Amino acid sequence: MNQRWRIFALWVLPIGMAILLAWQVFGSNQLNNQKTSSPIVAPRNAAVARMSYGRFLDYVEAGRVTAVDIYDGGRNAVVEAVDPELDNKVQKLRVDLPGLVPELINTLKSEGISFDIHPAKTTPPALGLFGNLLFPIILIGGLILLARRSNSMPGGPGQAMQFGKTKARFAMEAETGVKFDDVAGVNEAKQDLQEVVTFLKQPERFTSVGAQIPKGVLLVGPPGTGKTLLAKAIAGEAGVPFFSLSGSEFVEMFVGVGASRVRDLFKRAKENSPCLIFIDEIDAVGRQRGAGIGGGNDEREQTLNQLLTEMDGFEGNSGIIIIAATNRPDVLDSALMRPGRFDRQVSVDAPDIKGRLSILKVHSRNKKLSENLSLEGIARRTPGFTGADLANLLNEAAILTARRRKEAITLAEIDDAVDRIIAGMEGQPLTDGRSKRLIAYHEVGHALIGTLIKAHDPVQKVTLIPRGQAKGLTWFSPDDDQMLVSRAQLKARIMGALGGRAAEDIVFGRQEVTTGAGGDIQQVASMARQMVTRFGMSDLGPVSLEGDSQEVFLGRDLINRSEISDSIAKQIDEQVRAMVKHCYKETLLIVQTNREAMDKLVEVLIEKETMDGEEFQLILSEFTSIPQKERTIPILN
Ligand code: ADP
Ligand code: MG
Ligand code: ZN
Repeated sequence: MNQRWRIFALWVLPIGMAILLAWQVFGSNQLNNQKTSSPIVAPRNAAVARMSYGRFLDYVEAGRVTAVDIYDGGRNAVVEAVDPELDNKVQKLRVDLPGLVPELINTLKSEGISFDIHPAKTTPPALGLFGNLLFPIILIGGLILLARRSNSMPGGPGQAMQFGKTKARFAMEAETGVKFDDVAGVNEAKQDLQEVVTFLKQPERFTSVGAQIPKGVLLVGPPGTGKTLLAKAIAGEAGVPFFSLSGSEFVEMFVGVGASRVRDLFKRAKENSPCLIFIDEIDAVGRQRGAGIGGGNDEREQTLNQLLTEMDGFEGNSGIIIIAATNRPDVLDSALMRPGRFDRQVSVDAPDIKGRLSILKVHSRNKKLSENLSLEGIARRTPGFTGADLANLLNEAAILTARRRKEAITLAEIDDAVDRIIAGMEGQPLTDGRSKRLIAYHEVGHALIGTLIKAHDPVQKVTLIPRGQAKGLTWFSPDDDQMLVSRAQLKARIMGALGGRAAEDIVFGRQEVTTGAGGDIQQVASMARQMVTRFGMSDLGPVSLEGDSQEVFLGRDLINRSEISDSIAKQIDEQVRAMVKHCYKETLLIVQTNREAMDKLVEVLIEKETMDGEEFQLILSEFTSIPQKERTIPILN
């Protein structure tokens, strides 16, 4: 955008001026040409002598004038007069006239003097007008452009021009067309919000008994869980207009814009009440004031203050309900949560397996699914997926189906779409060779630990087909929607993650291990550290040694971090290291004792490239006994 302005200012402006200049020169040339070709010399030609109007009238009376050419709408004329003293020699004289006066014409007529009236200008009037306006237009246009351009630079001279100028950047939908039926898997939130619909539809029911209708509701939940959709559904159910604006749009570089936007928004909303105002990402403006590195953001605070003022400024019964969404309620300014503001909180969480099933039902309404494809199966395969992820999954699967020229979406497309959403695009399989063998051992190492440790999630499949950054992948199917994770499970996960490196280590030797395990090792470190500092699962005992959030920019947490003394920090490091070392030792042992099974598994994997969990177990069970995993399979209906 900026670039375009620059091009405009650099090129169009000078070119415009050049055209103007050329046109002036060219234009007057044309005027001259015409005049020289005509029998009478141009009126402004310096060679023509001047004569006063009075003298001209005398000459007319004396019968000395033979012809008159009137120019410029009667403002001047070239007169041919004879001089009797000079042998009746014809003289050309210029006269300034008072305009096209009828008397003059009449006199000329009655005296029998030939006269002619030339049009005011040789250029057509429209073009002439344009010519007159062109320069100012270019000038003003240029100034506006320059002002805009410098607006985009902080502290530029255009800043002052931006003051008080409001650009309405909120969207208004008279009718969202979304109903509660379109939002699935968030039944508790829907129940809570059903009341808001009633507030909007029948406020009398509440006001007649003296109840104050709440002004604000805060929707809290991770991205993609359907907060925006819910807000739209409320407006849709109540049949009221939906005003929406994103918190990040408030926060602009120029002071006062955010605040005036808030004012605008509320003004428009009041004109359209009853209605619903939706403020997305309210944490962008509603952060705890006075927090953050480098002091607060003045603009943000002003915007927030304006928002609070507006919320206080209207009666609870005026038919406006504000719904705000955030995924960080912990950073919000407490003033926002006060009674009379966003005093109601509704949490919108990632759906459980039943929720996923109902979301899948909503989004498969307009898709063709093959008959043997079960939505339950998909719901089972997708723990942790949000509504947005599921919508995306079905869409990706539909695209794949179309690409494969199939009639309906089958399990194969769903599987590929899930893999793609989680791990990225599929790459080309590696050619057989040493590095493929190493990757195969690495993956089989993960899968081996995953299968042999009871607390580990079972292996779903192992593959050597690269995806995203990974050269090979081992997929596990997590037990559905685990709320609580035990110490044994965390340890199993650490060992599972170390399985790849352990296999490389044992089969190829310490000098040959590769960078491929980098991601695994990072995961191991973070899990072990959390066990020590957050979950109290180390010898340091059940103490929390770190705040919930490590984000520096929040400021509030910055202080907490330094509360850990140097000696505690050292102890934490020691505990983490000891834990990982212990796990690695155990992992190496398992790999070593199952070396023979691994060789066989790798051979099969290299040949087939992808192996599913059952096949893996089958081959492994020929060499050793496999523990039965405890699973809680939820019942769906
Ligand atoms: P958020 O505002 O919480 O980030 P959105 O409401 O913007 O999430 O959701 C994005 C899209 O994901 C929606 O348009 C919808 O297609 C889908 N979606 C998300 N949650 C749900 C849900 N609970 N039910 C149905 N569709 C959902
Ligand atoms: Mg949203
Ligand atoms: Zn790995």
